[in-house]
Parts: sequence; C-alpha cells; structure tokens
Amino acid sequence: MSQQIKKVAVIGTGTLGAQIAIQVAYYGYAVKAYDQDPEIFQKTIQKVKGMMKFLGEGPTMPAEEWEKAASKIKLAKDLDEVLKEADLVIEAIPENLELKRKVFAQIDSLAPKSALLTTNSSSIPISKIESATRRPEKCLNIHFYGPAISINIVDIMGGTKTPPEVIETAKQFIKSIHCIPLTVKKEILGFCFNSVWRAIKKQTLYMWAEGFVDFRDVDRAWMVFTKMNKGPFGLMDIVGLDVVHDIEMSYYNESKDPRDHPPKALKEMIDRKELGMKTGKGFYTYPNPEFTKPDFLKG
Ligand code: NAD
Repeated sequence: MSQQIKKVAVIGTGTLGAQIAIQVAYYGYAVKAYDQDPEIFQKTIQKVKGMMKFLGEGPTMPAEEWEKAASKIKLAKDLDEVLKEADLVIEAIPENLELKRKVFAQIDSLAPKSALLTTNSSSIPISKIESATRRPEKCLNIHFYGPAISINIVDIMGGTKTPPEVIETAKQFIKSIHCIPLTVKKEILGFCFNSVWRAIKKQTLYMWAEGFVDFRDVDRAWMVFTKMNKGPFGLMDIVGLDVVHDIEMSYYNESKDPRDHPPKALKEMIDRKELGMKTGKGFYTYPNPEFTKPDFLKG
C-alpha cells in the first residue's frame, strides 16, 4: 500500500524549487518551503511570471491560479520549522554532490522518521546521496523538468535500498499533481527522459561552440520538427546556463571522458553573467527573446 502524503517540505526555492512548491500547493498539499536566501522565493515568482508570457499556459495549472497557489506556501525561517511534520521532502538546492549530501544529513536529522527524502537533482543518482542519511530505504530521485509549469513529466528513480512501495508512493504523488511519472527500472545517469535531453544538449552545444552552425538555426529546426515553442538553446536559457554547466560537469566528473566536458564557450558566457533568462541575457535576450517573434521561423 502506498504511504499517505499530506505535508510536503521543499528545500531551496530557486528556479525549480519555487515552481515545484507552487504546483504541489495548487493540488491541495500543505507546503512549507525553506531557502537560505529569504528573498529568493518572491524573486523567482516574478521571473516565472515573466517567463509565462512566452511559455503560455502549462498543462498542470491555469496561469491565473499561479499567484494564489504561491500564497498558500508557508515560507519557513529555518530547516527545523520546514521539516518537523513533513511526509515528503523535495530538495532543490544547487547541483553539487557535497552540498546535497550535507543538506540530506541535516534533513535526515530533522524530518520525521517516516518521511520520504527526495532530490530534484538533474544528474546525481540518489545512490550517491542516500548514505548521508540513516534511512536510505526512504530516499529517491524525483526529477521535475524546467520549466516545471509547462513540462509535466517527472523522472522517478530509487537508490540501492528503495523498495517498490516507496517508488509507488512517489508515482501516486506525482500523478496527484497532474504530472506524468517516468519510472527508471535500473539506475542510469540522467534518468529516463533527461538522458535523452542530455544527448540533445551535448550535440547542440558542441555544434554551436565549434562554430558549425548558428544556434538559432538549431532552434528553428527543432521548433518546426517538434512543434514546440522553443528550441534547445531557448530551453537551456530558461533552465539557466550555470545550471546546464553544473549538470554537464556532473556527467564529466563521472566519466572523465573529455567528450563529456561542457564547451569552454559556455563557461565564458557564465563568467560574463550571461546565465539566460534569469540575468536577462543568455543565447537570447529577455524578456522578449527572438524565438517568440512571429518571423523567427522564417529564418
Ligand atoms: P537555483 O540556483 O535557481 O536555486 C537553488 C536554491 O538553493 C537557491 O535559491 C539557493 O539560495 C538555495 N540554497 C543553496 N544552498 C542551500 C541550503 N544549504 N539550504 C537551503 N537552500 C539553499 O537552482 P535550480 O535551477 O532551482 O536547481 C535546483 C536543483 O534542481 C538542482 O539540483 C538542479 O540540477 C535541479 N533542476 C533544475 C532545473 C532547471 O530548469 N533549473 C530542472 C530540473 C532540475
């Protein structure tokens, strides 16, 4: 039988954490959230509102409900307050293994023994984090995609000790917030669809960085081919180029294969603070990126 989830704690309310918290609150869960930066939740909401202008309405909730759902979230001042009654914890702090292990150990010491501990990591399997806790059998990856408000697929992957009932509870929870669970049967870096997306990112970044093509042409082709309203470069801008770089570095650190290293040109953009939508400039400029203009697909 799957475990009852009523109270959800979100740790980290940056780009993804804030969106996840809002979506979960919209579907009736009691949500508490904590971030070490107390201002970031409101700042992220403003950014997401800007993003919705060109993303359109997502499949999970009506645009006009966005702020109402955000107002239901209780922003906690410390970890203890956010965790003490949680049934499910969703960690969405930066993509750094040591940091995630440290925070998982803190979460483990403060959350009820029965709580499930999950990470929204884009590339780190829970098997690398679970040993920081005394409950590896309650740990798993649940990976939302960015922007969570418009892409309603979620990867679910257990660690070395996660039993089928815990995976089932996570699946039911994901379905209850109108998302589609993609269950990974055997550990793989990048989970289910993120592995596919990784291959697309790697190839498109390589083609751009080596000067083979203009990134806009890749996006145009993708938009025509898939009928999506943005291409891989537009999507990477929305995710955040620093986040994309961190994720690619996780893959590289795992394989040590130079072909997995993100291109230098991407790091140079990050050093110039061109992080994508969140800083107003990435591959495109925001809030009105070129790919939203009516003539963009004409080339
Ligand atoms: P972000 O940098 O926008 O937000 C991270 C937040 O964590 C920040 O607000 C920061 O203040 C907070 N934080 C850092 N250390 C903390 C701590 N010790 N305690 C509490 N809060 C802390 O990052 P993001 O893009 O939201 O990514 C978060 C996670 O989600 C990463 O693991 C990333 O790989 C994953 N993810 C991101 C996307 C995306 O589109 N951005 C998509 C899927 C998954």
